[in-house]
This record gives sequence, structure tokens and C-alpha cells, in this order.
Amino acid sequence: MRPDTIAVHAGRPPHTPDQPLNVPLTPASTYVAGGDLEYGRYGNPTWTGFEDALGALEQGRALAFASGQAATGTLLDLVADGERVVAPRHAYQGTLGLLDDLELRGRVKVERVDVEDTDAVVAACHDAALLMLESPTNPALELADLASIIPAAHEQGVRVVVDNTFATPLRQQPLTLGADVVVHSATKYLAGHSDALLGALVTADDELYRVLKSRRDLQGGSPGVLEAWLALRGLRTLALRLDRAEANAAELARRLEQHPAVSRVRYPGIGGIVAVELAGGVEAADRLVASTALWVHATSLGGVESTFERRRRWATESRSIEESLVRLSVGIEDVEDLWEDLLPGLDGP
Ligand SMILES: *Cc1c(COP(=O)(O)O)cnc(C)c1O
Repeated sequence: MRPDTIAVHAGRPPHTPDQPLNVPLTPASTYVAGGDLEYGRYGNPTWTGFEDALGALEQGRALAFASGQAATGTLLDLVADGERVVAPRHAYQGTLGLLDDLELRGRVKVERVDVEDTDAVVAACHDAALLMLESPTNPALELADLASIIPAAHEQGVRVVVDNTFATPLRQQPLTLGADVVVHSATKYLAGHSDALLGALVTADDELYRVLKSRRDLQGGSPGVLEAWLALRGLRTLALRLDRAEANAAELARRLEQHPAVSRVRYPGIGGIVAVELAGGVEAADRLVASTALWVHATSLGGVESTFERRRRWATESRSIEESLVRLSVGIEDVEDLWEDLLPGLDGP
């Protein structure tokens, strides 16, 4: 099956007369003894539906977590005291926050790299334990050459993790390029409706899967059942949502390039995220995000509705991100409505 079909069909119950087509919502904190599940922190049939579907899309085995951050936290726990981690200089600020916290406490050493500079990334891998990658990166939308970097990191014995939240498995499958683990904030495109927090780790390595599952079960980063159900429901329409968001994003990026109020457009050619820098600086950016009726001024991304924000409004955003940079999460609306809604705020007072 091709990925768009897998997204619709994977993780469903077998076709049985009078049984539902969909995995049911199964709230349960405990199960009758004697089976495999035993307790609600270790497993749930609704999570399994989501995990099977995402695992099939990424070509590995997935583990659902309460959030992307819970997934990343459990993953970073694999790094032993004093080991070195290589990470993007621009990445999801929560990932960088977890790494900063570990570094401040003397747990690990972190080296930050420009993921577009393949030679620098490979050189930084020397003596490292883990390479964390994001591609495209949040919010700078840089692309890492995964096909070159992953084998070069492995040659140096470095484990490679790719956060695939922005690309989704419909645009990029890092495990097929050799990555050891894929991280997802399923909160974003996979669930896709701005109504659920959920994360996942995916790996094709059975031993790594076992270790990660035992850590999740011990640490308690297990997901809520409603969230897993919502994400699985969202996943069914991922292909359509992503196709439309991407087409809208490409068109808006093209038009924004030509707008005199915009000094720089970043669009990596895949996905629905665009970043613009405004010639009028912070004031122009703040005016833009306050000016619209459709575009919602909000953080997060990957929902059916278009949202945007000036990233540096967060004190935790990297200092090398331009103050006026506005990250747009382009939704599935009619692109003409999105464009018309942006224009007055771009044109200014
Ligand atoms: C949002 C996000 C996360 C964190 O996920 P949560 O579900 O919010 O915990 C991790 N990585 C990327 C790229 C994200 O955009």
C-alpha cells in the first residue's frame, strides 16, 4: 500500500460483521488479570490503533506518549551522564529547553550545529552519543541532508534521532534513511485539529523499542485515551489536509516574496509552514498578527485553521531568529481568503 492509503487503513480492526470499522474509544485504568495489558499505564487498545497506524506510515513500531515533549524527554533519558548530544541551533524550543536543562544540571554536553552545513554536523558527531535532528527546523525552516548525515553519523557510532513533526511520514520517512528513532508531536499535523496533545516515538529496532516502552511505562508519560483516539481520527485525513495546506503555503510564499512589506520568505518546498521577516521590524510583525479576522494569533501549528505568531515574543526563542520573523501555519481554507485577510495587515496603516 502507498502512504496515503496506509493513513486511511492501518490500525483498524479486522473486517467482522456487525463490528465497528474504527478502533473504539476504550477508557480503562486497569484490565482483568491474566492477559498482556494488565494496567492502563502500560497499554490501551485505542493507543494501539494509533501506534499501529503511525508505525506503518514510518515503517517502524510506534509508542504513543502524552505529548511530543514527553516523548523527547524519555528519549533523552537514553543519554548517559557526561555524554555529548549534537542538536540543531534552531529547533523546537521545547527540545532545546530540555537539552539546556540537562546541560545546566551537568547531565550532558550539548553542541549546537547548523543542520544545513552537512560537514559541520558530521564533524560535531565525533565522540557524541546522540544526534538530534529536525528537518525542516522550527521556525527557521532549514533542511538537513538526512541521506548524507545519517550514515556518516552511524560510522562514528552516533545514534540518530529525527523529529519528523513538520514533514510528517507522508513527505519524509527518516527510518528508511537509517535513523534510529523518529519523534513526533502528534499534536500538530497528525491529529491536525488543534484539540489534542499527543506525542510518539517510532523505531524499527526491537531492542530500542523495548527499552523505550519500559521507560515510558515507568515514567508515566503514557497518553490519554481520548487524545489517542482523536489523533487516529485525524490521521485518516492527513493526506488531504497536508496536500491542501502545502499547496496553500507554496502559493502564499510565492505572493509574499513579491510583497514590499516582506524582507524575507522562508519556505522549504514541503509542508504547510512558512516564515516571513518583515521590513518594518517588530512593530510591523506585531501589527500583522493583530490585524486579521481569519488567521488566528496563536502558537502551535499543523491544524486545519491558519495560525501565526511572531516567534521572538517568546523569551525562549533562539536569539539568532530575526525579531520580526512571523511563522505562519497555513491551514486548509481557500487560499484567496487567506491572502485577502493578510493584505491589510501587510499594507500597514
Ligand atoms: C510542538 C513540537 C514539539 C513538542 O510537542 P508537544 O506535543 O507540544 O509536546 C516537538 N517538536 C516539534 C517540531 C514541535 O513543533
